[in-house]
Amino acid sequence: MDHYIVSARKYRPATFDTVVGQKALTTTLKNAIATGKLAHAYLFCGPRGVGKTTCARIFAKTINCLQPRDNGEACGACESCRAFEEKRSYNIIELDAASNNSIEDIRQLIEQVMIPPQVGRYKVFIIDEVHMLSQAAFNAFLKTLEEPPAHVIFILATTEKHKILPTILSRCQIYDFARMEVPDIVAHLKSVAEKEGYTYEDEALGIIAQKADGGMRDAMSIFDQVASYTQGHITYKKVIEDLNILDYEVYFTMTDHLLKGNIPAAMLLANDVMARGFQGQHFVNGLAAHFRDLLVAKDEATLPLLEVAQSVRERYRSQAAQVPVRFLYRALKICRQCDQNYNTSGNKRLLVELTLIEVGQLSAPDSDACGLGPTKILKPLFTHNAPAATAAARPAAASAPAPQVASAATPQPAAVPKATLTAQPTATPQAAAAPMPSQPRQAPAAPQAQQVRPALRTLSIRGARQQAQTTTPAAASTPAPVAEEVTEVRPFDEQTLSYHWYRYAAVLPQEQAAQAGRMKNIQPVITDNWVVEVPVENEMVIPFMQPLVPGLTAYLRKQLHNAQITLSLRIIKKEEQRQVYSRKEAYSLLIKENKNFQTLVKALKLEMA
Ligand SMILES: [Zn+2]
Repeated sequence: MDHYIVSARKYRPATFDTVVGQKALTTTLKNAIATGKLAHAYLFCGPRGVGKTTCARIFAKTINCLQPRDNGEACGACESCRAFEEKRSYNIIELDAASNNSIEDIRQLIEQVMIPPQVGRYKVFIIDEVHMLSQAAFNAFLKTLEEPPAHVIFILATTEKHKILPTILSRCQIYDFARMEVPDIVAHLKSVAEKEGYTYEDEALGIIAQKADGGMRDAMSIFDQVASYTQGHITYKKVIEDLNILDYEVYFTMTDHLLKGNIPAAMLLANDVMARGFQGQHFVNGLAAHFRDLLVAKDEATLPLLEVAQSVRERYRSQAAQVPVRFLYRALKICRQCDQNYNTSGNKRLLVELTLIEVGQLSAPDSDACGLGPTKILKPLFTHNAPAATAAARPAAASAPAPQVASAATPQPAAVPKATLTAQPTATPQAAAAPMPSQPRQAPAAPQAQQVRPALRTLSIRGARQQAQTTTPAAASTPAPVAEEVTEVRPFDEQTLSYHWYRYAAVLPQEQAAQAGRMKNIQPVITDNWVVEVPVENEMVIPFMQPLVPGLTAYLRKQLHNAQITLSLRIIKKEEQRQVYSRKEAYSLLIKENKNFQTLVKALKLEMA
């Protein structure tokens, strides 16, 4: 590599027509030169790397050209043009105000202003990052800017127009440089790649352009880096590897998981991403950007806003078709909250995971609790145990002694609780092994999902069989009432209790969906003498829940092998009604009140910072 020139310099445009992505602006400049209507000062504003300095140089060269072409461009052959191209022209003076911003620097510049050009007509002074000039330097400069000699043209460039004093603004012709569009950058990168003899994939160049965020100089330097890393074979895979960019594949998959409410899979994927060194915030923001892209892809009218390679566009369109708009709106909101809270969060990783849980619950069948209004109640994570629970309950009816009942007990749509129809297919192998002739075999969940399941022993085959023998045919309409007398008095813990509690709620029939919904938000508490206390908000709830008590008591006695269980509905006192203020508080509340969540935290080895 004896004489390596970075592409940004090697392929810097030399004429207005080759400037990328600033067509309107270069045309205006060209016309001004052609008609001789030149101002004494120009202000070029815009983000970094979009061609401000490049245009300033082309402008300086063009106005000094001795034989300008008919199309308004410089000839590139006259003495002045050659001097410019060989960087030995005295007619262009560049000052970087970011590093030379003292009054002394400006004084030197002003001295040069007085000397007329030797060749050509104009001396062009380019002051880059002009907003960085010190106050004193600004004042000294202002005088020259007010009354410059006729042979002088100033081109001031800035990325921060709002920092320019009004006295300067009013003396300049202002040109606003736009952020470059991805397709423009891609097109330019393609032409460079072809000139350099590189092979490339469109998607790969698309990723580079996106990463450059509208700046051509950045795009070119990333391009150089990637070209050297890939040895001139610029593939999508290599680019995301080299730039350590998250593959959009990850976001597509994550969205699939979240749409299905498959939270364990989502958590695993997030874990995988973070294990690869990606910051949680970066990941959640990327996910939000993906949701935004899906939103944009939902409508033909907004589709042009999707800045991706043509080949990926179709994928966005197809996933967008599966996602409800409401889901996207809410998911974006949740991601934004995560972003806002990220820096102040004590446990960033957990924040990210809570965000995923929340988004994952948006698609749950009765997601109103977490989506609408100020209620911030997270539904129990283990509602997906529902299929297991019904799997156990239903064959009970099927194998009941009376033959006419057995035939009647094959799944009746009316009798099947809603939860079983919509809950996630995460039945465990245990459940699949249970005798359940009418239950379709379901895909086993990810291993972690099994680990976090509480009280697996209660789902043993033996347990299911026992239940099958003892449950009455009435199970078809009321879930699992237990006729058999329970005599044991086994101890049990709250975790197991709430597991069966939710299970019961999950298999309640459709008519009792309201009660089931309420049950899911109640955390029963074990008190003395096997009294299970059921906290409710007010006395209105008691007559509403009371009818459940006999069946539920019998069910819990049976499942927990404890004949002395009684249920007691208790109205929560005012001071007990806590309000959740922050996500951190929500978390500690969750951890305290929901043992399942605690298990999950342990199983996935989440830690509190
Ligand atoms: Zn020329």
